[in-house]
Amino acid sequence: MRIKINQIKESDIGKKITVKGWLKTVRNQKTFSFLDLNDGSTLQDLQIIADESAKNYTKIIEDLTTGCSVSITGEVVKSPGKEQSFEIKATEIELIGKCDAQTYPLQKKRHSFEFLRTIANLRPRTNSLGAVTRVRNALAFATHKFFQEKGFLYINTPIITESDCEGAGEMFKVTTLDLLKPPLKNKKEIDFEKDFFEKPTFLTVSGQLEAECYACAMSDVYTFGPTFRAENSNTARHLAEFWMVEPEMAFADLNDDMDCAEEYLKYCIKYVLENCKEDLTLFDKFISKGLVKKLEHVVNSKFERLSYTKAIEILQNTKKKFEFPVKWGIDLQTEHERYLTEEHFKKPVIILDYPKDIKAFYMRNNDDGKTVAAMDVLVEGVGEIIGGSQREERLEVLEEKIKKMGLDPKTLWWYLDLRKYGTVPHAGFGLGFERLVQFVTGMENIRDVIPFPRYPGHAEF
Ligand code: ATP
Ligand code: MN
Repeated sequence: MRIKINQIKESDIGKKITVKGWLKTVRNQKTFSFLDLNDGSTLQDLQIIADESAKNYTKIIEDLTTGCSVSITGEVVKSPGKEQSFEIKATEIELIGKCDAQTYPLQKKRHSFEFLRTIANLRPRTNSLGAVTRVRNALAFATHKFFQEKGFLYINTPIITESDCEGAGEMFKVTTLDLLKPPLKNKKEIDFEKDFFEKPTFLTVSGQLEAECYACAMSDVYTFGPTFRAENSNTARHLAEFWMVEPEMAFADLNDDMDCAEEYLKYCIKYVLENCKEDLTLFDKFISKGLVKKLEHVVNSKFERLSYTKAIEILQNTKKKFEFPVKWGIDLQTEHERYLTEEHFKKPVIILDYPKDIKAFYMRNNDDGKTVAAMDVLVEGVGEIIGGSQREERLEVLEEKIKKMGLDPKTLWWYLDLRKYGTVPHAGFGLGFERLVQFVTGMENIRDVIPFPRYPGHAEF
């Protein structure tokens, strides 16, 4: 029976096992070979010693090259090398799939992440992308574990929608109309009644509005799904398609929201510190020096909480020069966010009570008439990792806000119903899952923490 490499223990020494995977390196000596095998279960390659006593060895040794797939049976033996405590002495080697050494793009040297993006189909075979994949998986598992332990229900919200949650006009259209000959209304407008959904439809930018419907029945829910933004996202922190974790809590205010966000982040980081030690060592060594210390620091610090107004004061009083000038009412830029968390407070920061004019219609008005109960969590290297708010639960106030922002209350009848029929204070947030993976791995570019990144000009694979 096949065993995964990460399952082999020192206590297996003396046992006969079978492993399957892809060869990372092959070093042929005069009478025997060292093979390094990886199967994705761990960063550590498994060293295999094979010589003529292994069945098939002489027949296939020529074809055993980097990248080929093999099945190897042998005995676990103590390793004399200091890289590993055990290795496999092969008794049988089966070549499953040859690998064309002339064209195989993954050679033993280090490749740039830019180059690896062009071979996203093969890049999970590299140490770094393999490690990212395992950490991403651990963070997804920790996410479900955290919310499930707290009694949140996992719900799935639609991908295709009529509504623009953020009102930012950054949506991808979904249509089955013939773009060369769309049906017209009054000869000039596209007649969407003839389209598949009989209305203009889009890929969702957030599952929040639908999650609110479920929170206002089930109390605590969360979504974890893909979201889409057609913003010109040519930065190291934006993707056109990314995954968002969105909890929504009934009978909760902004403080509860911030508490939940802080606890969730710390939980995920702790989980990875405990369960992905080996992979974190790689990131700490080659990608972001001091990463593990940074993560431990985050777990052990109380996040700084301050109002937007106070944050503006701090930014205005520093000698640091910013590209975007600071004054009350602006939307904070990444440079501002990073200054606050990296240089001023040197720990994660939660900024709350933003000016209402720069925030979405659903955020609850504060009594000052100028701000809303919104909060953003900022972390080192990334800037905004979470955006959340207490939702406006007062029907008249919400209707007023919708109209003021130029939206049509008629299309949001279902959302307004929640405020008509048993309204409750409620709150939630959205965490960009890739930004979390970026933060925890220290990877510089968001395009390298999702298997197949989508960004302007790139939807291959
Ligand atoms: P930013 O100002 O960084 O563009 P945002 O204010 O547009 O973010 P929200 O609409 O509040 O972000 O979305 C919630 C979370 O989703 C953000 O805190 C961030 O972590 C993540 N996020 C937003 N846009 C993107 C994107 N294009 N790619 C990846 N993650 C994103
Ligand atoms: Mn954005």
